[in-house]
Amino acid sequence: MSHKFSPALRSADLSDFIAPSQNCIVSLKGLKPKTEKAENEYMIKPIGKSPPPEVVKVSLKDCLACSGCITSAETVMLEKQSLEEFISHINSEEAVIVSVSPQSRASLAAYFDLSPAQVFRKLTAFFKSLGVRAVYDTSCSRDISLVESCYEFISRYKKHHSAGDGENVSKLPMISSACPGWICYAEKTLGSFILPYICSVKSPQQVMGTVIKHHISKKLGYTPDKIFHVTVMPCYDKKLEAARDDFVFSVDHGEENDADDDGSAMKIPEVDIVLTSGEVLDLIQSKSIDFKALVDVPLDRLLTNVDDKGLFYGVSGGSGGYAETIFRYAAKNLFNRDIEGPLQFRIIRNSDFQEVVLEVDGKVVLKFALCYGFRNLRNVVQKISKGKSEYDFLEIMACPSGCLNGGGQIKPVAGQSANNLIQQLGNVYMQDVLIASPFDNAIVKNIYAEWLGQPGSEKSRMYMHTQYHPIVKSIASELHNW
Ligand code: SF4
Ligand code: SF4
Repeated sequence: MSHKFSPALRSADLSDFIAPSQNCIVSLKGLKPKTEKAENEYMIKPIGKSPPPEVVKVSLKDCLACSGCITSAETVMLEKQSLEEFISHINSEEAVIVSVSPQSRASLAAYFDLSPAQVFRKLTAFFKSLGVRAVYDTSCSRDISLVESCYEFISRYKKHHSAGDGENVSKLPMISSACPGWICYAEKTLGSFILPYICSVKSPQQVMGTVIKHHISKKLGYTPDKIFHVTVMPCYDKKLEAARDDFVFSVDHGEENDADDDGSAMKIPEVDIVLTSGEVLDLIQSKSIDFKALVDVPLDRLLTNVDDKGLFYGVSGGSGGYAETIFRYAAKNLFNRDIEGPLQFRIIRNSDFQEVVLEVDGKVVLKFALCYGFRNLRNVVQKISKGKSEYDFLEIMACPSGCLNGGGQIKPVAGQSANNLIQQLGNVYMQDVLIASPFDNAIVKNIYAEWLGQPGSEKSRMYMHTQYHPIVKSIASELHNW
């Protein structure tokens, strides 16, 4: 597997899932070789001298990024989620919309020595000069993801503490779901025991895709199939997330169609392609423009966390601020405690494993942790499997140092160390950004008022939540590892 993926996807443990000498796991799941190559399908050839080269065809959605095939996942993404693909959709009859993550904004800001606000304005000018219809900010969709996660945590916590030890007891710790590197690892190597612990709320990327294709498209006057939605993210893992079947819906003659039984419906992804921060830098450089000299243009405020004075707002936390936001919300709603000022996280083993507790009358009532990087992740999962975890919530991120250090971020410049760059990104990330609760976000309130109803409502659950699927190891791969 490519070095571009997060460490959890690259880990040695994943390599034993299927060995390079075997057929693709997808073919072992029962896909038959086909005679004609359909759109979005790629030829995957077994590596090594034997078995005989029976060719199977695997789409991006089928690929499990299992590391069994060394280059296929990378090839698929380079072809289907590439700059060329992005350019080919501009000036087509589709409206191209770009949603930029705050981590990518910080990466470009550090590279160009600008503030994140300046970068966002220049990036908007740049994309619009290419023909992009609108540029949005995934801090905005992240606020919906955070609100839904807060509600889910309260519900789980109450059920967990009111139920007995029966099978239906709600699982704690609740584990964050925004990192596809972690989700992929959980589904493929940990399987069904861990999945009930994972929060069902979609990641900010997929919430943005859902909001744009199901709701904002109508405001803009487009049917979902006429919008080409591109996200700019800090990692390659997000490309695989966008390609999950769970994040595709059906449209028949421009109308959403859940039934999809006559085969005429089109499959529409919430996110059409994902570009990394580094790929966007490549695009800027390929156009030979002076990015810093671009004029600052007004932002598209429909889905961007920017106030009347032009200041950005949002939660702190380079990996989305899930632990902090849910902790504050739970302290207030479960124990009537307002927490002023920054949360006091305590480093446990290393800076990538930190915890925070709430004590009431000398008793710990909430215990949350940030757990970044594969080594820490594996330790906490082991404890959960043995029933020894003390945590109520875990913000798990596959990359050491979290999303600011994603594999798709712009690399350190000559003479700069990786650690130095992470520090710089940490400083830049919240520069000129007002810290604000997602519950106070007027855009989010409006989306609930116009479309979703209440957080946790049936409609919210339908559109903003997802499911996870254990991937069963094939007998062939098990035998191979004997
Ligand atoms: S990486 Fe994807 S294509 Fe390659 S063997 Fe795994 S599932 Fe198949
Ligand atoms: S930690 Fe963040 S950057 Fe790294 S794989 Fe997960 S979502 Fe992507």
